[in-house]
Amino acid sequence: MNEVLIIGGGIAGPVTAMALARAGIDSTVYEAYDRTADGVGAYLTFAVNGLDALAVLGLDELAARHAFATPSAVFRNGAGRWLGELPLGPARADGRVGMTIRRADLYRELRDEAIRRGVRVEYGKRLVHVERTETGVLAHFEDGSRAHGDALVGADGLRSRVRTVIDPLAPAGRYTGLLNTAGYADGVQVDAKAGVANMYFGKRCFFCYFRNPNGQLWWFANPPRPAEPAPGELAALSPEAFRAELLDLFSVDDTPATEIIEATEEIVSPWGTYDYPLTPVWRRDRMVIIGDAAHATSPAAGQGASMACEDAVELARCLRDAPDPEDAFAAFERLRRDRVERIVAMGKRNGDQKAVGPVARVVRDLVLPVVFRRMARAGAGSTAWVYDYAIDWDAPIHERVSKRPIQ
Ligand SMILES: Cc1cc2nc3c(=O)[nH]c(=O)nc-3n(C[C@H](O)[C@H](O)[C@H](O)COP(=O)(O)OP(=O)(O)OC[C@H]3O[C@@H](n4cnc5c(N)ncnc54)[C@H](O)[C@@H]3O)c2cc1C
Repeated sequence: MNEVLIIGGGIAGPVTAMALARAGIDSTVYEAYDRTADGVGAYLTFAVNGLDALAVLGLDELAARHAFATPSAVFRNGAGRWLGELPLGPARADGRVGMTIRRADLYRELRDEAIRRGVRVEYGKRLVHVERTETGVLAHFEDGSRAHGDALVGADGLRSRVRTVIDPLAPAGRYTGLLNTAGYADGVQVDAKAGVANMYFGKRCFFCYFRNPNGQLWWFANPPRPAEPAPGELAALSPEAFRAELLDLFSVDDTPATEIIEATEEIVSPWGTYDYPLTPVWRRDRMVIIGDAAHATSPAAGQGASMACEDAVELARCLRDAPDPEDAFAAFERLRRDRVERIVAMGKRNGDQKAVGPVARVVRDLVLPVVFRRMARAGAGSTAWVYDYAIDWDAPIHERVSKRPIQ
């Protein structure tokens, strides 16, 4: 294998490139946007299993550079009543716990490090089509340029083009009925431990904030929107109108939400939440999809970025050991599919708790404390399957697998 084309320079793309480099395989990352598109935007929580995957490549320190530790979450209802507290995964042997980081910072660090390690990253390259050639694949980009490689990895996110190249009948994402928005607020005094996720099941809307150790409050909210927004509908919403909508939603709660929103200079424009509970076809011939392109999960799982990193390292192991790309991609699917689909389902369940009617809300507020107590008693055991995912880089991939895509 001389050259792998990686489509998408988000999280999975650069990590795949660095993992392939460790396996002795060259690759180039093709990113649709210009480098200057790395804006501020929203943030994400990155779990210990994602850190473990990055540690295989010596990237865990780098990812933690702009992040703050996020050890646990406290849950309350809209009246401010305490419902429970849970750790957000176990601590690693080095004491590191899950962390919260701006997406743009994580992207930039990963791309810069990939370049430092000799990976080529090309910007302004939006993939439109892929052709099979006698010796590999030919990628066509919107700007008219082309690139030839032995295999192609679609790390092109939620709205993956590679997914539909592989399977023109790939199902559309599932709209989960919730919007997302986020912001950063200065100058608000709250009585909260640094890093802890303060989650509020508000009467009309879910709200969460973290206190960054630097004093800034990072928050997100999930306004319910049962009907899927029409194309352009959310973009047409003025910032003032959206701010007013949020303040109205939280006006019925006894939480710090309105104060925090009022102190936020710029609220991140809302976007609809989608997931992919089942993407039937992940691979065809010399192409495969990974990360959100294959299994986007609701942010309520807190696992999308971590799954993308696990995929990247596992895929590189498969390409290192399998006799050809088709075998490698089949082995990859065998390794990953069950786990990621289980996590997508968990994300949907978590998200569904956020928007319920008045009767279900009462039931939820009664049931959740019991659930949280049970989970706390069970300790790490109940969520171990999410967080304990050790990748043994040196172990060879021995499996004999079917080359047929799973239908
Ligand atoms: C606002 C927000 C909050 C989130 N919160 C969390 C969280 O708390 N925890 C968590 O783990 N996850 C969270 N996620 C999910 C997480 O960001 C994703 O799961 C993760 O980024 C997936 O990585 P990826 O590399 O597969 O896709 P992405 O990071 O989306 O990267 C895909 C890349 O492909 C590029 N691209 C797209 N189409 C093309 C094309 N045709 N040609 C070339 N390039 C293309 C895109 O520009 C992008 O750079 C959140 C997501 C969002 C949007």
